[in-house]
Amino acid sequence: MQRLARMEEKEGSLHVAMFPWLAMGHLLPFLRLSKLLAQKGHKISFISTPRNIERLPKLPSNLSSSITFVSFPLPPFPNLPPSSESSMDVPYINQQSLKSAFDLLKLPVTEFLRRSSPDWIIYDYASHWLPSIAMELGISKAFFSLFNASALCFMGPPSSLIEDFRSTPEDFTVVPLWIPFESKIVFRYHEVTRYVEKTEEDVTGVSDSVRFGYSISESDAVFVRSCPEFEPEWFGLLQDLYQKPIFPTGFLPPVSEDVDGEEEDATWVCIKEWLDKQRVNSVVYVSLGTEASLPQEELVELALGLEKSKVPFFWVLRNEETLILDGFEERVKGRGMVQVGWVPQVKILSHESVGGFLTHCGWNSVVEGLGFGRVPIFLPVLNEQGLNTRLLEGKGIGVEVPRNERDGSFDSDSVADSVRLAMVDGGGESKRANAKMMKGLFGNKDENIRYVDELVGYMRSKGSSH
Ligand code: UDP
Ligand code: UDP
Repeated sequence: MQRLARMEEKEGSLHVAMFPWLAMGHLLPFLRLSKLLAQKGHKISFISTPRNIERLPKLPSNLSSSITFVSFPLPPFPNLPPSSESSMDVPYINQQSLKSAFDLLKLPVTEFLRRSSPDWIIYDYASHWLPSIAMELGISKAFFSLFNASALCFMGPPSSLIEDFRSTPEDFTVVPLWIPFESKIVFRYHEVTRYVEKTEEDVTGVSDSVRFGYSISESDAVFVRSCPEFEPEWFGLLQDLYQKPIFPTGFLPPVSEDVDGEEEDATWVCIKEWLDKQRVNSVVYVSLGTEASLPQEELVELALGLEKSKVPFFWVLRNEETLILDGFEERVKGRGMVQVGWVPQVKILSHESVGGFLTHCGWNSVVEGLGFGRVPIFLPVLNEQGLNTRLLEGKGIGVEVPRNERDGSFDSDSVADSVRLAMVDGGGESKRANAKMMKGLFGNKDENIRYVDELVGYMRSKGSSH
């Protein structure tokens, strides 16, 4: 009987290839989805570069035979460090080269897909060239959105643009952002200009909006890292916009390997020692993610704001950021810690001394922070971060640092006030309570299993066309 059940399960089992963009913020959620699929008996081929695969947390032993890492070295490209050195700390400017180099993976990836014929391939926005290859090989294809549903509604250019891209892809270097009516409320002026500036800088010959638009429009289905319980109206709008199957994956919160990790690296030992000395829920963790760098004057305002707030803080700066502010570290000694470089964010957020999270509002950071019930203080910088902020603030979760509407500047007083409101001041109680309530939704692993069951049901019903 048991044997029969196992055979049936094997028969229905799928071979799924995963192909995320080369950034930890993409690789980790793809890996978490892979693990959930592997737990259900499916086979995963996880495609990335050797350096990125090396950085992933070790697989639990019961899954190591179901998930195979397929590694292709990134072809050398001007302005990119040799692959042995490339890491999450590569400065923003190199992202354009990284995208060009990534596009050169088209050949080995096609060869792999031809050889191994998976039933499905799940990819994300940077692989705009992948759907046509999958189609040719008869492999079903899903776009996995690491944006939530509301942000995704703003990221797809209209179909006419897609048509143009199909006929003349070489003409596309800049694509105007598509802004539907709601955007007047949710996208601020300075955010739009920053976004457009970013697309203008693109030297890959394809802008981010086209990477996005094409990846989505050519997919068989869209998987979204969110759930309809959290943003029902936006899931509805997505369906109307894209006219194809849309499936939530749930939030895919960190799993125990991310929190506990086997290796006790020296950075974590130091940070933990400092956090252990602080009071429960007292510290605000400050990090603006891997891509957003603040100009010097904004770094100074942020530093002064943290100082004025009188709240204990742990602030992580990116490698290319240097805070120039005389006597700052001396003045905040004991209460504030500044660290440059990569830190184990999930471990920090899981520490009981951390109560708040001053974040750029990247979706990974939001999921991680709310999954531990930390109160967010939003300082959005790029991409969809402003949209995420508006979505959460609209639900009474967290506090946004007010910026000048036109040029986006902010000052130290607004930082201090926002931090105090989120962490200690009377008046901020409901925001603290709402954030803590989100722990049940964002950190809930069982919900994820339910969504993955639905997803697998759909994937099985469609199967591959070969
Ligand atoms: N990066 C990486 N692996 C590499 C080389 C670079 O992860 O082999 C870095 C990249 O340079 C950048 C970050 O990953 O600093 C991009 O992360 P992010 O999640 O911000 O990418 P986005 O979602 O904005 O495309
Ligand atoms: N991260 C980390 N240590 C760092 C910086 C970032 O572990 O020093 C992780 C963080 O936990 C999150 C991801 O990198 O999972 C950043 O993703 P997010 O979507 O928040 O922002 P992005 O970097 O894409 O702007």
